[in-house]
Amino acid sequence: MRLLVTGGAGYIGSHAALALLEAGHTVVVVDSLERGCRASIATLGSLGGGRFHFEEMDVRETAKLTSVLRDHAIDAVLHFAALAYVGESVTEPLRYYDCNVGGGISLLRAMVDAKISRIIFSSSCATYGAPTAAQLPLREDAPQVPVNPYGDTKLVMEGLLRSACASGTPLAAAALRYFNVAGADAQCRIGEQHQPETHLIPITLEVALGRRSALTIFGDDYPTQDGTCIRDYVHVSDLVDAHLAALAALEIGQCKAWNVGLGCGHSVRDVVESCRRVSARRIDVQFAPRRAGDPAVLYADPSAIKRDLGWHAKFSSLDAITASAWKWMNRGSVPTA
Ligand code: UDP
Repeated sequence: MRLLVTGGAGYIGSHAALALLEAGHTVVVVDSLERGCRASIATLGSLGGGRFHFEEMDVRETAKLTSVLRDHAIDAVLHFAALAYVGESVTEPLRYYDCNVGGGISLLRAMVDAKISRIIFSSSCATYGAPTAAQLPLREDAPQVPVNPYGDTKLVMEGLLRSACASGTPLAAAALRYFNVAGADAQCRIGEQHQPETHLIPITLEVALGRRSALTIFGDDYPTQDGTCIRDYVHVSDLVDAHLAALAALEIGQCKAWNVGLGCGHSVRDVVESCRRVSARRIDVQFAPRRAGDPAVLYADPSAIKRDLGWHAKFSSLDAITASAWKWMNRGSVPTA
């Protein structure tokens, strides 16, 4: 197939592009490089040869995007391009709606104009907001009431896709609701390198490496067993597998939504302990007030994606995921498999 990957210079998008190339597909990455990583594009280019193409552009450039879709005779789209920092979305909501919703509308317009009917959309567990204990683990039919603008933008996009699929436009969509993604390519060809880095696992491992003096834990007064937030961590390669499975299952007129998580909740302190185990390094922590927009507990019920798509996680423990992230952080200094 010939696939358009928006945001393919980003962390998850680049891992998806790599997997698609390895599966024999042709991949066209569109990325503004506002947050994306140019080095990942270079790596994908060297691995993909003639089957990889890169367009440096914003998905809000609708006419140009339509031309890219037509010129490359694209069969389906994987839409990763978005801003994705919960805390930043609270202080810059306009920017988030502009990029995430404006970008999504532009992409759908371009797809309709170019007669492309299949899309996999990167949604988020942030669409569930702050669930009650009775709603955990989260099934796909749990109430979606986001508590931050980032989650709002993902929910708007889910609604747009649902309406578009129901409108008679030939469109097939799947929204994958990501839980907390971590880890890297097994061969360390690409990995997680956000600028700036805000995510828990890479920051904790940067402390282990001595690049930071301590991890700041945002809030130890949550209503959880150890007072810190609980999340469901999933390896990026398992998440990418979910995209490939969803792509194969798309049906015109249908808009599906699947959770992609392991179904296990781990606290921030659990993550620190896991990082200490896999790195065998000292990791100092300090405490700060809660971060705006953070719900206390989020973890998935992944039974729908297992049942419908036969998906299962190969990285089935937190230590396996943090060990993968640690290996990436030490790339160059340890042999890669
Ligand atoms: N977190 C933290 N310190 C940090 C980064 C994150 O305590 O330096 C916490 C954050 O408050 C949340 C959890 O770790 O409860 C996961 O945050 P992350 O930013 O990795 O992902 P998110 O859940 O926001 O998508």
